Amino acid sequence: MICKKCDTTLPEGSLICPTCGEKVALTEQKEKIKAAKEKTLEIELAQLQKEYDEIVERTEIEAREIENR
Ligand SMILES: [Zn+2]
Repeated sequence: MICKKCDTTLPEGSLICPTCGEKVALTEQKEKIKAAKEKTLEIELAQLQKEYDEIVERTEIEAREIENR
């Protein structure tokens, strides 16, 4: 995957860009949710929202770990 903010190539499944600090997984998930809303894919939307909450949690944990480095 590529960071949309600074174009750094990141390993698949990255949560936070090490170069600019962008929360890449959250940004990607937001876009998926937006696309599902536009197509009114209710089932997919519910699943994406659930995944989003999980990514928020994981990103917060990773952000804390980066701070402690
Ligand atoms: Zn970046």
